[in-house]
Amino acid sequence: MSRLVTGVRSFSTAASSMLAGVTSARSAGHPSSFQVFRDVPQLRQLRRQLLRNDRSVGFVPTMGALHEGHLSLIREAARENTDIFVSIFVNPTQFGVNEDLSSYPRTWDSDVEKLEQLNEELAKATAAGSDTPTGRISAIFAPTSKVMYPSMPPSSEIDGDGSFVTITPLSKKLEGGSRPVFFRGVATVCMKLFNAVTPDRVYFGQKDIQQTVIIKRMVQDFLIGTEVRIVSTTREPTGLALSSRNVYLGERRRAVGLTIYKALKAADEAYRSGKTSREDILGAARSVTKRVLAEQEALSPTERALFEADYISLADPDTLDELDLVDRSKGAVLSAALKMAPLEETKPGEDCGLGDGKVAVRLIDNIILQPQQ
Ligand code: AMP
Repeated sequence: MSRLVTGVRSFSTAASSMLAGVTSARSAGHPSSFQVFRDVPQLRQLRRQLLRNDRSVGFVPTMGALHEGHLSLIREAARENTDIFVSIFVNPTQFGVNEDLSSYPRTWDSDVEKLEQLNEELAKATAAGSDTPTGRISAIFAPTSKVMYPSMPPSSEIDGDGSFVTITPLSKKLEGGSRPVFFRGVATVCMKLFNAVTPDRVYFGQKDIQQTVIIKRMVQDFLIGTEVRIVSTTREPTGLALSSRNVYLGERRRAVGLTIYKALKAADEAYRSGKTSREDILGAARSVTKRVLAEQEALSPTERALFEADYISLADPDTLDELDLVDRSKGAVLSAALKMAPLEETKPGEDCGLGDGKVAVRLIDNIILQPQQ
């Protein structure tokens, strides 16, 4: 199938050059395996056609800068659906006014290449007669901001005007504490994307656990006809959760950033060994962050990477209310956010990541404390 680029008239210059790159990347004898949509009507046309043919659509919303974590969601969607729609949209309303919207990594060409490769992998799995049905990526939805926010410029102000979806009190907890507009933006854009795609199933990563809880609540409360699937976190061999923002870490902060996972693991071990109190479980995590921070502080500015633990939380899996005691029959969500400070001094030739170590990087991670009999 040749790539059908649709909705072209509303492109901005930057966007059209982005698409020109895609077309040329695949024009030299490599036909594309999916269509790219920039606007909603043509996407809906495909969706209607698939519905008439009794095909199912699994939807994977992303902000691009794709990595193996994103691809794992698509692989999971391929196990359960004939067609997969992937959106790539850096959503302005989930970034606060002082956050990193402009520096968020945008890697359109390599994203498309990764999706093409994945479709080849999925096609091979089908040819090899895999037991489970293997769907394919049929559509990339990469709308402009004007398509997603048609009536007014999107606002990132806390009291900004606009048509927003707010899911409270869930949105105010954890990440919402330091990012007050974040989940309003996430819920709003997901509602719009779900309305555009009308997927049978949507796929989200456990990596952003609060997001999964909020999306499940939104689907429930707004009677949205889709199933929410959660896919486990993909990690580097070290244990660091993959994230589009990791490109800013560099070697030194990547190593120290692993503290977030080590702290969560220590808390998980405390739970597995029979501890259920907040003090015991979170104490195990805090002693790891405290120890590593003390070790780093003792080093010189050319050697160390400083960080701040924004929160370490032990919460109910459905309400995200903080727990004093874990009910073993229910389990809990253990989650944390760590702010990696910019490097104070760098060494010649050091791998400091994109932005030369000057960009602060917020890491989030979580472990589910599994219910036990
Ligand atoms: P993003 O592009 O960061 O908005 O993420 C798009 C989707 O990919 C979200 O559902 C994320 O939770 C998911 N995701 C991001 N990182 C990972 C990861 N390391 N493992 C699994 N899913 C992930």
